[in-house]
Amino acid sequence: MGTRPLLNRRLAGMGTTIFAEMSALATATGSINLGQGFPDTDGPEEVREAAVRALREGRGNQYPPGPGIPELRTAIAEHQQRFYGLTYDPDTEVLVTAGATEAIAATLLALLEPGDEVIAFEPFYDSYAACIAMAGAFRVPLTLRAPSFRPDLDELRTLITPRTRLLLINTPHNPTGLVLTPAELAAIAQLAVEHDLLVVVDEVYEHLVFSGAHHPIAALPGMRERTVSISSAGKTFSFTGWKVGWVTANSALVSAVRTAKQYLTYVSAGPFQYAVAEALRLPDGYFERFRADLLHKRGLLSDGLSAAGFGVFPPEGTYFITTDITPLGEKDGVEFCRALPQRCGVVAIPNAVFYDNTEAGQSLVRFTFCKKDSTLQEAADRLRRLR
Ligand code: PMP
Ligand code: GLN
Repeated sequence: MGTRPLLNRRLAGMGTTIFAEMSALATATGSINLGQGFPDTDGPEEVREAAVRALREGRGNQYPPGPGIPELRTAIAEHQQRFYGLTYDPDTEVLVTAGATEAIAATLLALLEPGDEVIAFEPFYDSYAACIAMAGAFRVPLTLRAPSFRPDLDELRTLITPRTRLLLINTPHNPTGLVLTPAELAAIAQLAVEHDLLVVVDEVYEHLVFSGAHHPIAALPGMRERTVSISSAGKTFSFTGWKVGWVTANSALVSAVRTAKQYLTYVSAGPFQYAVAEALRLPDGYFERFRADLLHKRGLLSDGLSAAGFGVFPPEGTYFITTDITPLGEKDGVEFCRALPQRCGVVAIPNAVFYDNTEAGQSLVRFTFCKKDSTLQEAADRLRRLR
């Protein structure tokens, strides 16, 4: 095959995702996995039953419509109306995808030209860097720094160049737990309008906000026509393996994203689409209990991590806690996470892998709290052995 590397240069260095690496390490060592964000209990029984019913009744067992089944597109539009007062036409302004991951990929592949610049908050969710690279574009990081992780919006302004095409934001933010305030969103929206930029917003943790509320940037003046909003059923309904996600945007943007999406998977997960349509229509009480339950778990893990000697940055949203390992006399999160399973039987994720400016995340480590109370308790007991 000659000397040319097999993996193309856009993907060179991307390797295996940190989530795959750390989950494999958890399995190999029998450790408690507080790395990859997936719950250790399934979501609502009635939603699981809805999937079983769809399978048995032969709904979605053959290719569903490319943009998603109409029942789900309608349920997504109703959800946007019910929680945010946003109106989308289920036929032209909603697209169902294979998880938020495919929504991100299709959006970036559809909207970017090679050479475009994308400004994104770092630490970035890992697929952002890969998808920007696959589109031949360049990422320009706005670094979120401990302890507050609030974005410096004056700095954001200085990062905009004539090549900037798109702002890629994530609120609530994985891994820091930052939730953008209405004032921050308004400032970002104003820059987008002023510089005629597209905005892609990843809102997969929209129902996990513990202080304040989730505000969709698409609702702000001038934003509807330039915003692609992305979410997913995985986190909200605790079925991360189902991989049902969606895009809402105006019809021109949805049409562009659909063009890319149809050649990635064409469609996904027929029966699960019926189940997620039911899930999105669950009463408000479901969403309130889900949030309250995770808030309780945040407290458990946060206390456990503090007792074990970590510096804890309480997240405003998501189901992750970012910690500082320097109080434990440690400096390097990657080394720390690779050794942690052997040292005490717990797996975590080093935030450094989500930064270009790795020094800003070098001593930061992320733990998830979307686990049974007993799992979190046991993890806390094990982590105390580090002292
Ligand atoms: N964006 C963020 C910020 C995430 O944390 C995740 C992981 N759930 C995704 C996107 C991917 O979501 P999905 O599993 O629906 O593809
Ligand atoms: N979103 C999950 C996390 O941040 C991981 C999903 C994945 O493995 N791609 O932990």
